[in-house]
Amino acid sequence: MRCLWCGREMGSTVGEMLWEEDQLCHTCRGKWIRAGSGHRFSGCRTEILYLYNQDTASVLLQYKEMGDEALKDVFLCRDRKRLSLKYRGSTLVLMPSREEKVRERGFPHLRKMFEQLDLPMLDCFEKTDPRDQKELSYEERQTIVLKLKNVTLPEKIVLVDDVITTGATMRAALSCVKDRCGSVRILAVFAVAGEHGIS
Ligand SMILES: [Zn+2]
Repeated sequence: MRCLWCGREMGSTVGEMLWEEDQLCHTCRGKWIRAGSGHRFSGCRTEILYLYNQDTASVLLQYKEMGDEALKDVFLCRDRKRLSLKYRGSTLVLMPSREEKVRERGFPHLRKMFEQLDLPMLDCFEKTDPRDQKELSYEERQTIVLKLKNVTLPEKIVLVDDVITTGATMRAALSCVKDRCGSVRILAVFAVAGEHGIS
């Protein structure tokens, strides 16, 4: 098998033999820095898998913005078994993307990414601000408003996202689900180091 990022034939290093389900080679994966454990965001138990740096950002952008769907499993493949056990009994609640973005990409990137965990998923948020987050100023991004679609939330949910940058979307999601389910946790693949609200 070839590394999905650099194209090198894999299986020659000890790391690659140990992690044979990994789709990235030892060198490429080595640039993905683990974010450590025991995080909290707005008082909520939060799991971040990796730091969002130049290397991880370029893979995420290639997947998300360039529509490179083949990369969908590289983000969670090393944590797949552990995460599906850890969150068994919970429903993954997906953070929303703007509809035109989904159409442009041609695939629901977040759902594809988390599908490998084999857990129920719910897409229940609507973004009420139609502008692209990247076009907004820092202040404007702090006031993102989400609306909960007309659904009954399950008792145990995990809010999932690809990357926590300003934390505004996650904060808006939390305020929608607060007091509406028994247990809320957060799982994000990436977060910017020292990001607002994450401890
Ligand atoms: Zn590689």
